[in-house]
Amino acid sequence: MLIKRTEREKHRSSLAAFVGGANERLDRRAFLSRSGLAAGGFAALGALPLVSVRKAKAGPPPAAGAAVTIHKNICTHCAVGCTVTAEVSNGVWIGQEPSWDSPINRGSHCAKGASVRELVHSERRLKYPMKLVNGEWSRIKWDQAIDEIGDKMLEIRRKSGPESLYWMGSAKFSNEGAYLFRKIAAFWGTNNNDHQARICHSTTVTGVANTWGYGAMTNSFNDVRNSKTMVFMGCNPAEAHPVSLQHMLEGKELNRANFIVIDPRLTRTAAHANEYVRIRPGTDIPVLMGMMWHIFKNGWEDKEFIKQRVHGFEEARKEIDKWNPEEVERVSGVPGAQLERVAKLFATEKPSTLLWSMGQTHHTVGTANVRASCMLLLATGNVGKPGTGANIIRGHDNVQGATDIGVDTVTTPFYYGLSEGAWKHWSRVWEVDYDYLVSRFDSKEMMETAGIPLTRWFDAVLLPRDQVDQSDNVRGMFVQGHASNSITRIPESMKALPQLDLLVVADPHPTTWASLAVAAGRKDNMYLLPICTQFETSGSRVASNRSLQWGEPIVKPSFESKDDYQVLYLIAKKLGFADLMFKNIKVEGDRPVPEDVLREMNRGSWSTGYTGQSPERLKAHMRNQHKFDLVTMRAPKDDPEVGGDFYGLPWPCWGTPEIRHPGSPILYNSDVAVMDGGNGFRARFGVERNGQTLLAEGSYLPGSEIKDGYPEFTMGVFKKLGWDKDLTPAELATIEKVAGSPDNIDTVSWSTDLSGGIQRVALKHGCSPYGNGKARTVAWNLPDPIPVHREPIYTPRIDLVAKYPTLPDAKQFRLPNIGFSVQKSAVDRGIARAFPLIVSSGRLVEYEGGGEETRSNRWLAELQQEMFIEISPADAAERGIEDGSWVWVTGAENSAKAKMKALVTERVGKGVTWMPFHFGGWFAGEDLRSRYPQGADPIVLGESANTIMTYGYDPATGMQEPKVSLCQISAA
Ligand code: SF4
Repeated sequence: MLIKRTEREKHRSSLAAFVGGANERLDRRAFLSRSGLAAGGFAALGALPLVSVRKAKAGPPPAAGAAVTIHKNICTHCAVGCTVTAEVSNGVWIGQEPSWDSPINRGSHCAKGASVRELVHSERRLKYPMKLVNGEWSRIKWDQAIDEIGDKMLEIRRKSGPESLYWMGSAKFSNEGAYLFRKIAAFWGTNNNDHQARICHSTTVTGVANTWGYGAMTNSFNDVRNSKTMVFMGCNPAEAHPVSLQHMLEGKELNRANFIVIDPRLTRTAAHANEYVRIRPGTDIPVLMGMMWHIFKNGWEDKEFIKQRVHGFEEARKEIDKWNPEEVERVSGVPGAQLERVAKLFATEKPSTLLWSMGQTHHTVGTANVRASCMLLLATGNVGKPGTGANIIRGHDNVQGATDIGVDTVTTPFYYGLSEGAWKHWSRVWEVDYDYLVSRFDSKEMMETAGIPLTRWFDAVLLPRDQVDQSDNVRGMFVQGHASNSITRIPESMKALPQLDLLVVADPHPTTWASLAVAAGRKDNMYLLPICTQFETSGSRVASNRSLQWGEPIVKPSFESKDDYQVLYLIAKKLGFADLMFKNIKVEGDRPVPEDVLREMNRGSWSTGYTGQSPERLKAHMRNQHKFDLVTMRAPKDDPEVGGDFYGLPWPCWGTPEIRHPGSPILYNSDVAVMDGGNGFRARFGVERNGQTLLAEGSYLPGSEIKDGYPEFTMGVFKKLGWDKDLTPAELATIEKVAGSPDNIDTVSWSTDLSGGIQRVALKHGCSPYGNGKARTVAWNLPDPIPVHREPIYTPRIDLVAKYPTLPDAKQFRLPNIGFSVQKSAVDRGIARAFPLIVSSGRLVEYEGGGEETRSNRWLAELQQEMFIEISPADAAERGIEDGSWVWVTGAENSAKAKMKALVTERVGKGVTWMPFHFGGWFAGEDLRSRYPQGADPIVLGESANTIMTYGYDPATGMQEPKVSLCQISAA
């Protein structure tokens, strides 16, 4: 079923000529010797099986007499978190092994991880600061760049106010970089700061956190080895997270586990499935509700679990009951008998896990999709135990960390929100006057108002002034580590690019911001700042399973690049608040010390349990990787350095580092004590609703002194329990200081007490600091409290729109969301007749994200050379399109068009097409290579999928819709 490209050899020779000279041929052997890879890397290049790789012997020999040092860092290409072990001689990265000691990757890398050395050595990097002058790129000095950028920022502030400068951050920051980025936006005075999670898992964060407490992966890849049933719905780890698949496939073999894939596309993961369920794109809710319909009808639900730990299923049943097998099949195309079979396996052959990624989240109903997934897990009691859980696979290497740390329009760091209390908490942590922070914003009201999602930066530039709810439109953008082509509606962004008063791109590569801006007619006031990779600096990052890993620098920053910390420090200094912002952070030269940044984070992150992961503990974990168990990820209790810890101290890791909480490898596991990583569901929705308790009933952790549910701990609760007597005088003094006045002392809580005393005492009594509540199936604060199916904005099933319309137009995140009007207009104008094919998008194994970095890597560029669209044999035949031929893809908005190759394949069903989203550097058929700074153009260019993708935003998050739109395809 998976068709190989027939022209492969021809393409290979042409690319080899391009990257390596006309007579040079790049075969696997040349690849290895030139990329500095040893045999482990070679084994990894073949996609799988990863279980059979053998340990590497050696890389290329160092120069005679040169000392070789070993440095560990983490692969920057996805959130699996594979360790990279590098050999360095004379300051040169000469060899690499895929880290046999890591419990996460244990000697495996995929093609991307195997070729990361090229990121450092690549001649395609942005080498020095550049400035656009009359439409041409010219080299400038760092001092000049920072000076001019700062002056223009201050000018925007003077003319339009702080909200008019947009801070677009990165999921590739270290935690410490992410923290400084959020902090600089706060000191500048705006919540218009955002990052990649907006367009990958913002819906997960909102939907899942609103169900049971935190919006993160509950278990881990390693723990999937315990599952008896795995359902992959909207993820494709074989391509997107390749090394994670070793855990899933080994678990499948060892447990004879059910391996079920529900997806519109027969992916490479589906090729491993016992059962493949094809659904129409955008119908996850009908399928999930349909599974629950079978489960409740047959009595397969976990009644005891629901009674003890879940609120609201009686109410939710009213929606579930609508999804009988006939209606599910009518809407999604899934036959009732097949869905009943899958539902039965999931409910009865336990433990079961549901895995998802952007297939579920990338929708206008993304938040509702993930809530329906959580409900399925709750209905069957598949949360909080080994082998169960919502294994939500994150994308970029630190998208989890950057999200937790609040590079986000809706919160200060660590999900504290934007309320006055949240800002006061951080002003205490930062030791700056709260009133000073207020003075930095346009007003206190704006300080407490969510910013504009990055999905809509260009709307904030282009919409009439009175439609943007801030003092002025967005006038300037500071983009650090984010791809422009990851954002839908590229034709609209082309209109906005020339209109900005300032555009700064800080990145190891110029990125599509550079090529598109010049192509759009931008002539000046644009700067490119070279940032080094994470392999050239140090800091911590969070893998998908919430483990923190510390990376050490392998080599010094290449060319004239600086690390994220340096650039943020220099900008803060120019803007005049560096002394305050770095008050408690040591700065060496112009480089803030990341260990100090992490210590400041530790002092403020009580709400999420990032307080126990000191730099010293994280470094000890990297030194002792071999001591952690492959399945439990725990080190032996008697180990002097990491005894009893779970690898990477997965958050929440409660209390101060001295308490030595081991981390929480499985969220909401009430079968183990809190000091062994146990927790109930978070009691964050109150204690009662409609006369029913929202606290757990008869379910509690072993060793808990409270044998039932309980609310989150505050001083008020402590006093009732008499536990305030357990606080030390020093802790009490800090709590009194946080309270500000004796009248407020009862409100100081586990998340605002800077002494950590409340957490310490709660743990001493065997209790989880955040309480022991019920998960909820009815999220009464969301637009659809119980998930409701809504047809995509652009759907071929116009017969379903009347019954399942998108939500009414409304103002959200400072901007109008006119999805309803757009959907209605599309139906009225018969758009689906002119554009009859569903178009979806996703990931390839060879590339990552917007792809400029990986397409600049000669070893990866060799593997995937052209942008393509998958089309079914039937649809191709109807259009006279041959496999491998050029086609025009036209989109439903803006007369969008894109030229690419056709891949005729049965991976997609009739009526459905699919594109990878990593390409860029072409627009509407035009090759933009000449628009990049000379020598910094990626090796492989191609049309961006998001040129075709259209309007559509999740009302709860601003998530875009890159998974369902409509297109037409014709031979070029
Ligand atoms: Fe591992 Fe992901 Fe890097 Fe591949 S891209 S080596 S799976 S971290």
